[in-house]
Amino acid sequence: MTILKDRREVKAAKNHACDYCGARISQGENHNITTIVGDGIYDWRSHKHCDELVDGLNMFSLCDPGEGLTSDHFQEIIDDRYLGVCREKIGEVDDWLHRQLQSVAFKTKMHEVLFDLRKNKPNEKT
Ligand SMILES: [Zn+2]
Repeated sequence: MTILKDRREVKAAKNHACDYCGARISQGENHNITTIVGDGIYDWRSHKHCDELVDGLNMFSLCDPGEGLTSDHFQEIIDDRYLGVCREKIGEVDDWLHRQLQSVAFKTKMHEVLFDLRKNKPNEKT
């Protein structure tokens, strides 16, 4: 896939689904669009906080070059990172807890990872 037109912010004229997390982008909500050539030309729509996660966790560096980042990959990386955040908080995660954490709603995982990312940001730059 090739990026035809870089990520830019637009206001949703109607409801869409985010191509990363799958959740709704509501009419009137500011979100990002990247125009891509792959199987035809299409717009990749994403929440601004999803792109913040993509950038903050350097997700594109974890993909094969030219492959792009799929929603499956995005969700895998968030799942992984969420476990990492939990480990930092509570130490060792045993099998039982691991299963509990896996069943946490994806939205909650994203929120936790984003919170952790924002919290750590100032330290990274200094
Ligand atoms: Zn999203």
